[in-house]
Formats: sequence, C-alpha cells, structure tokens
Amino acid sequence: MPDCFEILNKDLAGRIGRLRTPHGVVETPALMPVVNPHLRLIEPADLKRMGTEILITNSYIINQDPELKELAAKKGVHHLLGFEGPIMTDSGAFQLSVYGDIEVLPLEILEFQRSIGSDICVPLDIPTPPDVSRPRAESELSETERRLSEAREFWDDGGPLLAGPIQGSTYPDLRFEAAKRVKEIGFDVCPIGAVVPLMETYRFGDLVDVVASSKKGLGPASPVHLFGAGHPMMFALAAALGCDLFDSAAYALYARQGRYLTTSGTLHLEDLKYLPCCCDVCRNRSPEDLAKDPEKIELLARHNLFVSLAEIRQVRQSIWEGSLWELVERRCRSHPRMLDGLRTLTSHADWIEKLDPASRSTCFYLGPESAKRPEVVRYGSRIDRIELSGRVLVADPGVEVEGFDHVLWFKPPFGPYPKELAETAPLNAEVPAAADEAGVAQALANLKRLMDANPGATFDLRLKEAHRYGSALEEVDGR
Ligand SMILES: [Zn+2]
Repeated sequence: MPDCFEILNKDLAGRIGRLRTPHGVVETPALMPVVNPHLRLIEPADLKRMGTEILITNSYIINQDPELKELAAKKGVHHLLGFEGPIMTDSGAFQLSVYGDIEVLPLEILEFQRSIGSDICVPLDIPTPPDVSRPRAESELSETERRLSEAREFWDDGGPLLAGPIQGSTYPDLRFEAAKRVKEIGFDVCPIGAVVPLMETYRFGDLVDVVASSKKGLGPASPVHLFGAGHPMMFALAAALGCDLFDSAAYALYARQGRYLTTSGTLHLEDLKYLPCCCDVCRNRSPEDLAKDPEKIELLARHNLFVSLAEIRQVRQSIWEGSLWELVERRCRSHPRMLDGLRTLTSHADWIEKLDPASRSTCFYLGPESAKRPEVVRYGSRIDRIELSGRVLVADPGVEVEGFDHVLWFKPPFGPYPKELAETAPLNAEVPAAADEAGVAQALANLKRLMDANPGATFDLRLKEAHRYGSALEEVDGR
C-alpha cells in the first residue's frame, strides 16, 4: 500500500480512507471540485466554506497563460487559487483528448506541476477513448506506460504524490493489464482515465466493467480516482467498486446549461415547479426566483455542488454502517441505464464478495439484484459446510416438527439454514413477504448444493409457497 493511504472502514469494494498530502489529510471518498483558473464560478475560498476538502485544477491551462504561469511559478498554485487545502493538478491530457495535440512535453508539464506546489501531480498520459480499435488501444497504452515509467524515474518520493493513470479504452483485459503495470511501477494515486464519454452517454454497464477490471488488476491498496466522475447519481455505484476520489466539473458545466443536479438524475430548471432541496440556494427560492436571478448560474452551481458534497457524506455514512449495497440499489433504480450498471455490478459479485467484510448491519432485500449481494453469495458458497445425515426437513421459518434428525428453515434468497442462525446476520435479513424469482432461484440453487454435499441424507420439503417455485423446485424435489 502506498504509505500515503490508510483504509479505515470497508463495505463491498468501497472504503473510507485517509489520504495524506503535503497540504493535509483528506478523508475519502472525496469530491474534488474542478476549478478553471480562468473562469471561477465560485471562489475556491468559498468552496472550502461549503465543505470542499480538496480541489483539482488544470496545470496545462496555467502553463499556457503567461500571467498565470508567472504568478504560479512565483507564489505557487495555492496562492494563485486562494485555497490552502490539498490541490490536485491535471496534466493537459484532457485537452489532448479534445484537441488532438498540445504544446508541452510530458516531463515538462510534470515538472511544472511540482514546481507550483501541486499536492497530487499527474503525468501526461494518452487518454484513449472508448470503442477504438484494439491495435490503437494497445499502442497508445504502451506509450502511456513508457511515459509512466519515465515519470516514476524522474520523481523523488516524500514530496507531492504522483498519480499513475490507467488506460486501455473499453477492453477489460487491457484495463486489467494496465492496472497491474501501474501497480508494479508504483504510484501514490491511480486515476482511471478516459471514461467521461461512457458517463456522458450513460453507458454505466461498460463503465462498471472498466472500473472493475482496473481494480482487479490494481488490488485494493491504492487510492483510485475516477477521472471526470462528477454526477452525484453515480457516486455510490463508483464507491462500491472501490473508487475513492471523484472530480466535478459538472457542478459548473451543468449550471451554465440551467441544469439542476439531484442524486436521482438531472432536472432542467424550467421544468421545475418546486426546488426539492433545502440548501442555502433552494431553501427560500422558487424555480422562478432562481431563473430570473442575475446570479442564476452561480446559484445553480452552488446548489449542484451542495448536493454532490452531501452525497459524498451519504456514501461515507453508508460504508461506515455497512449499508452501501442498499444505497447503490436505490440510486441505480433512478434511471434504466444506471440499472444496467447495477446488473453489471452483480456480474462481479464473486470479486466483491472477497473484498466485502462480514456485514455489520441488517441486509435489506430491495429487488432481484439483492440476490447477488455479497452476503448472499458468501452464504451460498459456504452452505456445503453444513453436515447432515438421516432425515432432514426443510420448512418455512417457525415450523417445528418431531421425527426428523435435522430441521432447517428456508428463506429466499438464502435457502435452507439451521434454525439456530435465524437471528444472526445475514439470515436476519429483511425480505419481502413474497419472494421474487431471483430470490427463489438463488435459494433453490443453495438447497441443491446442500443436498449434493450430503448425499447420505433424505430431504422432505414443507414450504407454503412451494406452488410458486415451479420447475426449479421439481428438479430439487426429485431427490
Ligand atoms: Zn439546493
């Protein structure tokens, strides 16, 4: 683990951590508002008052403006922005992705970031967009890796943190290999790059695959920055995959377009009759007041940032109490494409299960995806440890019958369990009175696994809902 990062609490693949930088410690997950040195919609000192702990700015923009460059070189980037907390700087890779060419050499911009006192410096990598040909993704990745090795050799430890971006377009295996390489070379912070096009087009399923592949290659020790992720709707999902840092240009960009951020999506100010928020901006204003206010853009930006920072706190609280899965399910049900993200998350259930600590809070079953949450996966993978012999009854919870060697109770999505465990996690989960198909399928699969592990025992089933379980039960019942 880079010694600048310490993990305090874990839930799913997510965590609460402490990232040490030259300008102080940042608790993660954290949101870094993007400050454009030319267009400061909200002054950085004000960002701090609103609860910002760390921000990010673009060293390339500073470098290209003679006046800003001179001031930053003389007094440092903290003075330039009027912010005393940690500041991360980007290298110009984004400009490279938009304009195709930039006027600075990789080591030159890295040295510039260090010289102006940045806390987290990013080498100039090649941001490869989604869906490019494999040869292009591979050749750009090898150039990125060459620059990362060069940057690492150039860097002295003990000062600002050095970031090692992970590229590889939408090829999960390239992301995995790129992340492994970043880990080998050794960086303090690992940004996952070039995912903005996926987020802009709501390809959350692909985003989850990119992030999960990168994290699998990188391992859990390094802090991960999901570059360009600024919509509060997706913080919980990204945090559940193990992302620790987010950056928001969205709060300002959306404000300029009259868009109002919420944790369940983006609204247009003109479509609102009420402002569903109680921040300083919204509390005593109607949408109409806001629309005609001469400060409208700044006010909207403040609201957008307020909900984003509040959501980061919600994510932290959920990790701390062990209820991040529930938060992810709620957020992902706010848009069908977010639901794609949740479903793709369940396809990585085995990986998440290995990282997830034993649950501290009671599980809530909120929909079919809950049948793949780590507690359920873990219970299923260990059910064959239950040793049974003679006559076994599998019955509804609460049923007591004489004449059996073992009585197990049955509860979707877990399936059969020794009744002594009924009040212990995860079997004390809150589940709907009528189980859904995914829950039943998981429960029956676990029952079958238990029966296969105990070939010497005979099983009787007495389940009130059995008529609803259909052919999957018949297969089990054949025994
Ligand atoms: Zn508000």
